[in-house]
Amino acid sequence: NKMVYSFGQTKTDGDGSMKELLGGKGANLAEMTTIGLPVPPGFTITTETCAGYYKEGRKLPKGLMDQVRDAMARMEKETGKKFGDAKNPLLVSVRSGAKVSMPGMMDTVLNLGLNDTSVDGLHDASGSARFALDAYRRLINMFGDVVMGVDHEHYEAEFDRIKAKYGVKNDTDLNAEGMGELVEAYKKIYRKYTGKDFPQDPYAQLEAGIEAVFKSWMTTRAIRYRQINEITGLAGTAVNIQAMVFGNMGEDCGTGVAFTRNPSTGENKFYGEFLINAQGEDVVAGIRTPQPVSEMPKWNKAIHKQLLEIKDILEQHYTDMQDIEFTIETDKLFMLQTRNGKRTGAAAVKIACDMVKEKLIPEKTGVKRIPANDLTQLLLPSFDPAAKKKAAPITTGLPASPGASVGKLAFTAEEAVDRSHEGELVILCRKETSPEDVDGMHSAAGILTSTGGMTSHAAVVARGWGKCCVAGAGEIHIDEKRKKITVNGKTLGANDLVSIDGSTGEVFVGEIDTIEPKLSGDFAKVMKWADKYRTLKIRTNADTPADAQRARDFGAQGIGLCRTEHMFFEGERITAMREMILAETKPAREAALAKLLPYQRKDFEGIFTAMKGLPVTVRLLDPPLHEFLPHDAKSQGELAKILGVKPAKVKQRVAQLHEMNPMLGHRGCRLSVTYPEILVMQVTAIVEAAINCAKKKIKAVPEIMIPLVGTDKELEILRDLAEKTIADVKAAKKVKGKLAISIGTMIEIPRAALTADAVGQHADFFSFGTNDLTQLTFGYSRDDVNTFLPHYIQQEILEKDPFQSLDATGVGQLVETGVAKGRSVKKDLKVGICGEHGGDPASIAFCHKVGLDYVSCSPFRVPIARLAAAQAAL
Ligand code: PEP
Ligand code: MG
Repeated sequence: NKMVYSFGQTKTDGDGSMKELLGGKGANLAEMTTIGLPVPPGFTITTETCAGYYKEGRKLPKGLMDQVRDAMARMEKETGKKFGDAKNPLLVSVRSGAKVSMPGMMDTVLNLGLNDTSVDGLHDASGSARFALDAYRRLINMFGDVVMGVDHEHYEAEFDRIKAKYGVKNDTDLNAEGMGELVEAYKKIYRKYTGKDFPQDPYAQLEAGIEAVFKSWMTTRAIRYRQINEITGLAGTAVNIQAMVFGNMGEDCGTGVAFTRNPSTGENKFYGEFLINAQGEDVVAGIRTPQPVSEMPKWNKAIHKQLLEIKDILEQHYTDMQDIEFTIETDKLFMLQTRNGKRTGAAAVKIACDMVKEKLIPEKTGVKRIPANDLTQLLLPSFDPAAKKKAAPITTGLPASPGASVGKLAFTAEEAVDRSHEGELVILCRKETSPEDVDGMHSAAGILTSTGGMTSHAAVVARGWGKCCVAGAGEIHIDEKRKKITVNGKTLGANDLVSIDGSTGEVFVGEIDTIEPKLSGDFAKVMKWADKYRTLKIRTNADTPADAQRARDFGAQGIGLCRTEHMFFEGERITAMREMILAETKPAREAALAKLLPYQRKDFEGIFTAMKGLPVTVRLLDPPLHEFLPHDAKSQGELAKILGVKPAKVKQRVAQLHEMNPMLGHRGCRLSVTYPEILVMQVTAIVEAAINCAKKKIKAVPEIMIPLVGTDKELEILRDLAEKTIADVKAAKKVKGKLAISIGTMIEIPRAALTADAVGQHADFFSFGTNDLTQLTFGYSRDDVNTFLPHYIQQEILEKDPFQSLDATGVGQLVETGVAKGRSVKKDLKVGICGEHGGDPASIAFCHKVGLDYVSCSPFRVPIARLAAAQAAL
């Protein structure tokens, strides 16, 4: 049973492909050794050994230490040093390293092998007593802390006492004599808190160090980290034991970290920092300011040159940007780590394009390597990371719609409109938003809500516009009357500036500088590649000509969802709409609808024109009617005056329309069943708009979509009515030729999916409304889900927000069933998705897999969807 894999000049057992068994660090150390890079020799104890340790009830597996001793003997031979030696001792580091990197979550012990004898050996070998004693006291501290659980503070207190005694301020100023005293003081601390002497047997140290790393796999923070990052299915951590090299033995020593290319911009330039006469932890701790590696030639030209050569070797070998750690010990360079480097969206695009150009990777790999979601960062302004670092968020909500915006707080939609008309930048801050607030939302620089989830109204609308939105920031208490919010003890009013980050959900007080996005030629190139490989079509959800145009610019191939309800809130239309709702007879309703018709026709003409020949799916009116009426007495009074009716009548109608569960109430196709004249008006507007466009030689391809169908009968009735209306308009307008207007339905009620063969008889296309489908499948209100969803995710009841990423297990079955049953009656039935999931890469992969024809998403997500669709196909 092989538990130990060596790496070194004389023998290397593993390689870079063995991350599962050797962990990321161990596999890459073996790989770097194999390709001839200078790596201090060592060995890796496998992740399976860690699993064995737990299986045996936290005991080191039998035979492990024998294998460790063999591997140590090989290291001794290779380095010419001996573990625990009185003359030239070998010292080792013991480090964790799972398959997936878990930065800082697990334990490390350095300088193992030092004891009262070998410390003199280190003194001899290095020529510095201070250096040797410093290494020893670090070991006693780290070993005590990590292995034995002695609080680091006890050591700190002793250090402070001795520094004071010697009259020095910095650790580095303490001389050899002081260090000697410190070693003795540390040993006392160790004895006091562990009841034992610091172990002098180097192998006892090593064994305890290995066990400590295994134990650190199961600490609360490591477990939590794996939960948060959805890391599952790992055996355990590997343990890497490696010969120590020292960057702190003098002015010809140093240590650093670097990226083979710039991780922020992607520029193909070696990018990193180093410190002279320091250990790795000094760079991370930020006590001293490191120098950029570009300055290194001034200090050591040869090492700099060697690093650049290694950079090229690593990139050629791994064919990806690497993040490396290195140490220089008396003019000799050693590599301690390499891994694929994390990068921004902009850097990911540039690096992929450059590497394809350099013939380092094929085009398909370039496409696969860019995280689709990270493209958002290229499309919107963002906060300057340096500026953000200096500020602390006052609270964090959901990252509902990416972007960075700064403004003063506005508390109502009206206020947001008025103040922004006067040129002020405002953040609209509401408990939640409703369709009535659209004007205010549109005028605001950003939107902040204290309730609501990722598909709450505010979030959906904001994403559609590419407007920055933080939703569900539950710690914010809004006092609309006094125009104040309180959050974590701070009170802010209408004159206070806040900055909100829609990519992270953070909320800051004050103004944070932003940086503008640049759509580089590389971005366009990646899109071209994506279009070459994807089979899914990408449409957009848009309901204004401006949105339609933007989506086209981003490459949308049509509109998959044009929600018509937003159109009724602008200017005079809302009055006609309200008149229609208050009307008591069909003729009165028709009279009011007749006023709306020209507006709708113009809306559609604008959108058809913007889409120039691309299909436009128009969804008929969907929300319950009460959403269009005012709810406070003052506005109701005003409406009564405008319409010339008694205020009591308005109040009564509002009361009549009140529903316990409006989402399950009188909405969607149920409106058209009970008030067919609404459908007639909308279909008339669509057809007339298409005819008007044709007259102007603009091709219009409208598709009429009927929402919230649950039974085939509903669709049958409404389809007949729509067809009759189309025929009537054609006759009235004396249009002879065929008008290609298809009629389809949304599948957003589970029953419609389950009976899709019956529903499909009456549909030219299906579009899955996965927002409602998720809501109705889970029984979670999409607007209130944020009250419990975070707990569900934390407790792992759910892996992710099902309104954000399609639940393939449950809701996905309904989608698959719907597709199969629909196509069982119509082989070529066109099927798409228009819920928010249409812009989510994981959901797009699912849509590709189950054979949808297209996904439809908000304009700003179109490029992401194009890339994600290509990745799904590759
Ligand atoms: C849906 O339910 O998925 C959908 C697209 O419609 P809406 O979000 O307008 O309810
Ligand atoms: Mg819906």
